[in-house]
Amino acid sequence: MRPGFFFVSLKVQVLAGLHRFWAYARLPLPVLLGMGVLMAQVTVADPRTSDDGVQLNKTPKTLFVVVDGIPADVIERVNTRGIDAVAAEGSYQRAYVGGELGEPTESPTVSAVGYMSLLTGTWSDKHNVRANYGIEPNYAFWDIFRVAKHQARAVTTGLFSTWTDNRTILMGDGLEAAGGYKFDFVADGFEKDPSFAPALDDVERIQAVDLQVTTLAAKTLLESAPDLSWVYLQHTDDIGHRDGDGPVMDLAVRWLDARVSELWAAVQARSQQFVDEDWLVIVTTDHGRTSSNGKDHGGQSDRERTIWIASNSPRMVSPAERSAAIVDIFPTIVEHMGFEMPEEVAAQLEGQSLLSQ
Ligand SMILES: [Zn+2]
Repeated sequence: MRPGFFFVSLKVQVLAGLHRFWAYARLPLPVLLGMGVLMAQVTVADPRTSDDGVQLNKTPKTLFVVVDGIPADVIERVNTRGIDAVAAEGSYQRAYVGGELGEPTESPTVSAVGYMSLLTGTWSDKHNVRANYGIEPNYAFWDIFRVAKHQARAVTTGLFSTWTDNRTILMGDGLEAAGGYKFDFVADGFEKDPSFAPALDDVERIQAVDLQVTTLAAKTLLESAPDLSWVYLQHTDDIGHRDGDGPVMDLAVRWLDARVSELWAAVQARSQQFVDEDWLVIVTTDHGRTSSNGKDHGGQSDRERTIWIASNSPRMVSPAERSAAIVDIFPTIVEHMGFEMPEEVAAQLEGQSLLSQ
């Protein structure tokens, strides 16, 4: 038996058990405590080096975060300590959404269109999402979580989202046509639950959902560290539509940045405890906003098409080498995670990995 083999096998079994994380919450306390002890023991036994001190292969992990509708000029002007802290480890760069102007790939700078381009690595002429509602996604273009679940090895997945349609519509979670169930950890549905913060107005209520989603995401990242996680937060887009550019939007950006700080702190704490984990963190937005007042988006102006990508990876390509697009995030995750893809999925990708050699 090679050194470390026993421990690696054990870890896989425990990760398989963690698939039922949410189900544990419904079990009697003594059972939960027993499981906690088991997990704690396994965590301690998880080796960082083999018996002869050789560093074992690190376990790749990815967290990507979409903060809705923050123009690049705003994120660059406002003091954002959380996003800056992520980028301080790696990079920050501008990027674009909306496909290629005047080409079949040209895509509306609308939220769901942007998410879907990130999730599938393709533009709207392929994934077929051109609006937020009344859509019929083309599931022939696999989302990144379907790819994750296609791996020979067990890959755990997490979704923490203020918009439930991300899971149920865009990714067709649970639908056979979309590859079946994809998520081991889910925190969404709060905005559809009438009992959640009913006294708040629409904008404040979504802000409260963002807070709840962040809290659950940070807790799960720290305790269970799904191999691939997406956190989606909405507050800034609501403020943009209501107030446009100005101090209220700046304050919303700082508030959302504090949520990024919570997530980043969870990843850092996790990394310090489990040094065999290799974390890629990507923070981005789904579109810019109009130049006139920042209240709208959907068109093809420079400000609407310009987004940004912050990452903790020191391997991200420099903007001087080539311009990045939202469709580059999918192949970047694939490379970091070491995912295998069916040939027909890989052949349809519009972007390329942002990781340099
Ligand atoms: Zn949006």
